[in-house]
Amino acid sequence: MLLIGSHVGYKKDTGILGSVKEALSYGATTFMFYTGAPQNTVRSPIDENLVKEANELMKKNNIDKDKIIVHAPYIINLANTEKYEFAVEFLKQEIKRCEQLGMKYLVLHPGSHVGLGIDIGIKNIVSGLNEVLKNSNVTILLETMAGKGSEIGKNFDELKRIIDKVENKELIGVCMDTCHLNDSGYNISEFDNILDTFSNKIGMKYLKCIHINDSKNILSSNKDRHENIGFGTIGFDNLLKVIYHDKLKDIPKILETPYVDKYAPYKQEIEMIKKKIFDENLIEKIKGTC
Ligand code: FE
Ligand code: FE
Ligand code: ZN
Repeated sequence: MLLIGSHVGYKKDTGILGSVKEALSYGATTFMFYTGAPQNTVRSPIDENLVKEANELMKKNNIDKDKIIVHAPYIINLANTEKYEFAVEFLKQEIKRCEQLGMKYLVLHPGSHVGLGIDIGIKNIVSGLNEVLKNSNVTILLETMAGKGSEIGKNFDELKRIIDKVENKELIGVCMDTCHLNDSGYNISEFDNILDTFSNKIGMKYLKCIHINDSKNILSSNKDRHENIGFGTIGFDNLLKVIYHDKLKDIPKILETPYVDKYAPYKQEIEMIKKKIFDENLIEKIKGTC
C-alpha cells in the first residue's frame, strides 16, 4: 500500500482524533501533525480518551500508527546558544507528548547557527540531541534543509557530522524534503544518485520519512518556498518517481504543499498522485472555479 498523506491540523478540543479524521477525509494512508501550532510552542495536555478513539479509528482504516510523524515547531533551535535551554526543555516535553500519543517519530529542523558558525552550531545540536534522547522511546528525524540563512543540515555531510556524534543511534534518523533538497542543490531528476550518496554517507536505514513538495525556486536557490505538486521547478514526473520508488515503499510520504486560497489541496493532490497523471487544472479545481 502506498504510504501517502499530508500534514494535518491538531486542535485543542479534538486533538489527535481530529487529525486522523482530517487525514481520512483526504484519502490519506498516513499523516503528519504538529502537537499545536507549528509556529509557536503553546501546547495543551494530551487527552487520553481522544487517543483511544483515534487509535480505534486508525485501526479500522488500516492506518499504521508506527508510521505517523510528529513535527516539532520550527522555532525550536538547538544550534544557537540564545534559546538553547528553552529548546532542550521544550523537546523533552514534546518527546513525552509523542510517547503519550503513542507516536514513534518526531521531525526536527536541526537549527540555524545565526553567526556562531557551522562547527559550534553542530556541537550545540549534538549536545541537545544527546540530552533529550537520554530517556526517550521516540526517534528524532533530522530534516534536510534548504540552506536558507544559517540553516544547518543543508547537505548530507552536515547531517552525517551530527548523526556520527549522537550516542543512541537507534533514536536518530533523517527526513528528506524534496523542496529543500532542490533548493540546497540536489537535483531531484537524478534521485537515484541522491539516494546513492545518502546511502554511502549516512545509510538507508536512517531514512524514515520524506516530505513531498514541489519548489517555487530553482536548484541551489537556498530559498525554501514550497509549491503544489507538479506546479514547481521539480515537476510531477520527478516527484512521482520519488513517491513510487522501490527503495522507499515502507517510508511515509508527506505533502506540505501550500493552501490554494483558503483551501487545503491534499485530497486533490493525493488523488492525482494515485492516478499518476498530472492535472494542469488542479489549482482551478481546488478553488472550485473549474
Ligand atoms: Fe519541516
Ligand atoms: Fe519539510
Ligand atoms: Zn520547507
